[in-house]
Amino acid sequence: MILEWTLDGQTQNHWLSPGTTATIGRGADCAVTLAHPTVSRRHGEIFAQGSSFYIRNLSPTNPIILEYYGGTTRVGHGQQVAVPVGGRLLLGEVRVELREAVALRVRCPGPCGKVVAVPASGFCPNCGIALATAETFTG
Ligand SMILES: [Zn+2]
Repeated sequence: MILEWTLDGQTQNHWLSPGTTATIGRGADCAVTLAHPTVSRRHGEIFAQGSSFYIRNLSPTNPIILEYYGGTTRVGHGQQVAVPVGGRLLLGEVRVELREAVALRVRCPGPCGKVVAVPASGFCPNCGIALATAETFTG
C-alpha cells in the first residue's frame, strides 16, 4: 500500500512497509511529513495489523477525518480506526489517500507506444505524453 497526497500542487507518496508504523505530521521527524500549518507536528500514525491498515490520532487538539464512499468518521485523540483501500484521511486541510501500490499499467498512446506504469504525474516517462486517455493494459 502507499499513502498519496498533494501539497502545493505536488503529488507525493510514501510506501507503507508491512509491519511498520509510519508517523504522519508537520514535523520533519515524521515518516510522512505534511508541511502545512493546519497539520499537527505529530498528527497521527498508520500501521498494519494483519492485512488491514489502521490510523491512530496522536494529536490532542486536532481530529483526523476518515472519508470513504461519501461517509466520514471522526477520529479523536488516542482513537484508531481501520482505513479501507481508497479511504482518505483528512489531517488539517491535507487529504492523504490509502492506495494499492500496484501501479496502473497502460499502453502509451504517444510516439513510444510502450506499456508503462502510470506515474503520479500522469505523463509517459518515455515520451512525456499525457496517459489519461490511454487504454488500460490488463496483461
Ligand atoms: Zn510514451
